[in-house]
Amino acid sequence: MNSPLVTLWRFRDLSEAQLAKGKLEASGIECHLADENMVSMYWLYSNVIGGVRLQVPQHQAERALELLQEPIPETLNTGDSGLTYIQPRCPNCNSLDVSCEGSDNFVTYGASAFGFPIRVASNNWHCAKCSHDWETISEPDPLHPAVAAETMTRIFVATSNKGKLKDFAAAARTLDIDIAALPGFDNIPEVIEDGDTFEANARKKAEVYSSHLPNELVIADDSGLEVDALGGAPGVHSARFAASAQGKKPSDSDNNYKLINELSLRPGCERTARFVCVIALARNGELVATFRGEAYGEILQMPIGRHGFGYDPLFYVPELNKTFAEMNAEERAAYSHRGAAFKKLLDWLKR
Ligand code: IMP
Repeated sequence: MNSPLVTLWRFRDLSEAQLAKGKLEASGIECHLADENMVSMYWLYSNVIGGVRLQVPQHQAERALELLQEPIPETLNTGDSGLTYIQPRCPNCNSLDVSCEGSDNFVTYGASAFGFPIRVASNNWHCAKCSHDWETISEPDPLHPAVAAETMTRIFVATSNKGKLKDFAAAARTLDIDIAALPGFDNIPEVIEDGDTFEANARKKAEVYSSHLPNELVIADDSGLEVDALGGAPGVHSARFAASAQGKKPSDSDNNYKLINELSLRPGCERTARFVCVIALARNGELVATFRGEAYGEILQMPIGRHGFGYDPLFYVPELNKTFAEMNAEERAAYSHRGAAFKKLLDWLKR
């Protein structure tokens, strides 16, 4: 049938247009991308000419529109590859209509909700439904070899500390574990950490936060630094070590400065310390188990390194000849207290 072409959609991004075309053609709909060559020569032309136009024969327009507006599935089996793509959700409103910036190299499934598995180079995500922007805690890699989504272990981390999220993501990177920040964490009232032990605080946080996400595995950790010469201080008070009398929460540098002062007269052999991390795993408001990890080192007289957070720049690991703030993600996963606790959790889950 010789039906006139109608413009169905305009795309600013060429790769999105090509993917939409691919999807329609796979369903037997003829497509044409008007101005495709011009935009592929120089993508800024796309702004000038109002985007690449996806055109289809008039008699197929209705069906084509339906296909492009199909709801985004949670998972997608990518044909012969045996891979299952898992579409990320918005941590704020739980919508699947999310996309990654910079999708011109690789692409994300959610790119404008057109339903194509696309891998992304960027970590900056945007929700088309509630406009929430966020960063993923690891390089997005929603393709998990031959693992069906429902058999994959998914763990939500109850923290807003990006350093901790990165540690967990790095520790889980090579495993079939999907790590995600607890959706809506910032809207849940903060749990007061008033326990005497790391275990008590981690447990309290995991129980409370898991009750906000029914039937899911939720972890929370409590961690801190124990310095031998200070009788184990700051310990569970690590975050507030340098708190003023007014109770104002100190910054990481306030805490580090105080630690340097307290140890200023101590020789090298009296500067031993350990980082402790206790992870509590809970579901539906009930504790499932706790896991403790420790890392051993020495406190330096001045900070070294730019990565990490908290006391990292003062915590020196002789074995690696590096502070925690100089380590890369893999080294942290192998040497850190959080990596050690997380490994125990994974072993336990495997069993
Ligand atoms: P939280 O109560 O578990 O969030 O952590 C308490 C404090 O311990 C943090 O504010 C940091 O100062 C310190 N801390 C915990 N884990 C780490 C770490 O991995 N590196 C550096 N400092 C840490």
